[in-house]
Amino acid sequence: MAEKLDLVIQNGMLVYPEKIILGDVGIKGGKIAALGKAGKLKGSRVIGAEGSYVFPGLIDPHTHPVYLDNLEGLAHSAAWGGMTTVIHYAYAKPGQSQLKIIQEWKKEAGESSCIDFALHGGFFETLKQADELPDCFREGVSSYKMFMAYAKLGWMTDDYALVKAMDIIGRLGGMASVHAENGLAIDYIQDKLLAEKADFAARFPETSPDLAEAEAVFRAVYLGRLMKCPVYIPHVSSAETVDVIRFLRSKGVRAFFETCPQYLALTWDELKKQGPMGKVGPSIKTQKDQDALWAGVRGGLFDTFGSDHAPKDKKPTDDFFKAPYGGPGVETMLSVIWQEGVGRGRIGPCDIVRMFAENTARIMGIFPRKGRIQTGADGDIVIFDPGQKWTISAANQHSHCPYTLFEGKEILGRVTTVICRGKPVIEEREFTGSKKHGKFLPTKAARK
Ligand SMILES: [Zn+2]
Repeated sequence: MAEKLDLVIQNGMLVYPEKIILGDVGIKGGKIAALGKAGKLKGSRVIGAEGSYVFPGLIDPHTHPVYLDNLEGLAHSAAWGGMTTVIHYAYAKPGQSQLKIIQEWKKEAGESSCIDFALHGGFFETLKQADELPDCFREGVSSYKMFMAYAKLGWMTDDYALVKAMDIIGRLGGMASVHAENGLAIDYIQDKLLAEKADFAARFPETSPDLAEAEAVFRAVYLGRLMKCPVYIPHVSSAETVDVIRFLRSKGVRAFFETCPQYLALTWDELKKQGPMGKVGPSIKTQKDQDALWAGVRGGLFDTFGSDHAPKDKKPTDDFFKAPYGGPGVETMLSVIWQEGVGRGRIGPCDIVRMFAENTARIMGIFPRKGRIQTGADGDIVIFDPGQKWTISAANQHSHCPYTLFEGKEILGRVTTVICRGKPVIEEREFTGSKKHGKFLPTKAARK
């Protein structure tokens, strides 16, 4: 027998995108050092995983730690949700330097995260901020988000600036992430409804419509092709866009597509009574959209799941039109997708790790360090007990957000233990992590 392992996760069902095998995982020096037959590995510590699934550490590629959860709180909430890596959007607002924001966040998150993290940049003044890209890439940040939406809010990147950024990002070997909704079309529709004094809560999906998303997804990916820049589309929400993705896939494009639990598990009909609490961007749409998204997940049209965790301070009585877009999600993401996906027979555990870990790690260029249970990878492990029954409530969440869109939802299956680089962060549903543990991960997005 080789040298003794620090930690052995014993007798679990190890989940891979292509198989599930019964076995042991051995960790030494923070890395996966051995894989063995069930019950065979010996270590200084043993954590039993009989009857549980053992996932590689899950990755949330879409988090916003600047609202009710800061960098520390978001990482903590994410760990409870089974994540060992979060990839935050480090937006540079107008007048800010992207380089400076990246440097500040690396320092602050490095001192406050209990799990590992990487960063996406994000531009609000794309023409100017894009000139900082070479310096930003040297900091280990290789994906940058721009908004085709929110023109009136002043967040929109027009096609001229988008193409410039894609040109530079493509040449540097990175990836453009695009919030794809047609901002000017949406502004016109909103202005029209404002003039009619329309009930915005009742008509929310009309102000963030499927066709405005589908059009912008097509445009973003084609502009990416034009500039030889891989494109990542976060938070896809509609059946029309699934059709566009099917076409884009048929062209063999270098593009990646994410969807989120709120679009896979909710409809606006169910949610509208909660008023502004359910206001997220893009809007949550209809049952037909939800069904098409699941068909897309099953059919391999989507690459990743992301939470778009952006818990905003709002109340059900707030003015709907003025209320901000965004809600919590990082902690409930796995549970909701497990319940709606695996629980209802739409997908299996292998799809969960494919879209929550391996695909995400490959696209972000942090594979094989992250994303798969194999020797040499970081010792990131999630133990998930498929037999535990519980109910989602804001009261049992660890986010600082006082609400959840999934209040009262019954879930069969629960994260029990989360290990990041060999260190238990959650153990048998007790927090055992430390806020100085998390490390920055430089990315090489879309480089495979
Ligand atoms: Zn977005």
